[in-house]
Amino acid sequence: MATLLDDVAQKVHNNERLTRDDALGLFEARDVIRLGRLADQVKRARWDDRVHFVINRQINPTNVCVLSCRFCDFATKRGRANAYEMTIQEILERCSDELREVHIVGGLHPDWTWDYYVEMFRAIQSRFPQIQIKAWTAVEIDYFSKKFRLSVEEVLRRFQAVGLAALPGGGAEVFSERVRKSLFPFKIGSPRWLEIHRTAHRLGIPTNATLLYGHMETHAERVDHMLKLRELQEETRGFMSFIPLAYQPGKTQVVARSASAIEDLKTIAIARIFLDNILHIKAYWVTMGEEIASVALHFGADDIDGTIGEERIMHAADAASPVSLTRERLAELIREAGCTPVERDALYHTVKIHDDRVRCESTVS
Ligand code: SF4
Repeated sequence: MATLLDDVAQKVHNNERLTRDDALGLFEARDVIRLGRLADQVKRARWDDRVHFVINRQINPTNVCVLSCRFCDFATKRGRANAYEMTIQEILERCSDELREVHIVGGLHPDWTWDYYVEMFRAIQSRFPQIQIKAWTAVEIDYFSKKFRLSVEEVLRRFQAVGLAALPGGGAEVFSERVRKSLFPFKIGSPRWLEIHRTAHRLGIPTNATLLYGHMETHAERVDHMLKLRELQEETRGFMSFIPLAYQPGKTQVVARSASAIEDLKTIAIARIFLDNILHIKAYWVTMGEEIASVALHFGADDIDGTIGEERIMHAADAASPVSLTRERLAELIREAGCTPVERDALYHTVKIHDDRVRCESTVS
C-alpha cells in the first residue's frame, strides 16, 4: 500500500503542489531521512549544490518597547537597568565597508520621532552606500503608521525613499489567533501582517517571511501559516525567502525546551516541498545552531543567513549559538556540508561564488 511519502514523492516527481493535508501528514512521517531526501531533491532542482549567505550585520537599535509580549526576553521598559537606546552614531559604528546588508529590527520605542528613523536610514545610506537596508517587521510598520498617523503605504514609501530595500519578515510569529491571544495579544494578527506585506510587494519592496515554531503552536497551525504565505505569494510574488525560527525558551519558559533537531529538520523539509512558489528556504543558524543548520542544507535549505555581527533578540533568550560568524566560517560550514558557498546581497543577487570545486553529495541518500 502506498504511503504518504510515496504519494509526496510522486507529486515531487510530477511537480505537483502539496495539499494542506499532505503537509500536515508529513509532520507525522517516521522516515525523516526519506523526507529530507525529497526536500533535497526539490532544493537541488532549483539551486543544485549552491547555498547562499550574506555579509550582514544585525542592528537592534533599542530594546525599549511599549508592549510586553509574553514570549519575549528581549524587550524592557525605559529606566530599567537592561534598557538601551542607540544613537545614530552608535548605529553607524556597527556598520562597515564590507557589509552588504544591515538587518534592523527592535522594540516599539514610545518616544522616538519619525525624523530619528529617517535620519538613521539617511546616515547609513550616505556613509555606506553599498549597504542594503533590510528593516522593520510588519509590527513596527503598523506601529509607525499609527504613531505617526501615516498610512502603511506612506510609511513604506517614505522609508523606501531613504533606502529601505526589503522587510525581514518577522513579527507574525505564527498565524494563529489562539496563539496570538495567549502569547502576544496586543500585537497585530495575520490579516494586518499580510496586508502590510501585500502593500510592500505592490510598492516593489520584497520581503521575507518567518515562522516562530516550537512553542505552543500545533502542526496544523504551522501548516496554515505556510498556506497563507503560499496564497499571498501566488498573488504578489514578493516573498524572497521563508525562515523558520526555532523558539528559544529563555527566561519566559513558555515551553521547557526548544524544538528537537528532528522537528527543526522536518519543518525545513516540509517548507521546502510545500512552499513551491517561494525561492529560498533559510536555515537560520542563530536559532538552530551551526550543527543543525548545516544538516538542514541537506533537508531543503539553500540559505544560511549571514555573519550577523551581533544578535540581541535570540541571545536575550539564551540562544546557544555564537554571537557572530565570520565570512570564512560560514563558507567553511557550507563547504563542510559538501555544498558551494554563494555570497549574496540582501535581495539574493550573487556577489561571489566562493568555491565551486566541491559538488554536493547528499548525506541523506
Ligand atoms: S516581541 Fe516585539 S513587540 Fe513584543 S515585546 Fe518583544 S520587542 Fe516588543
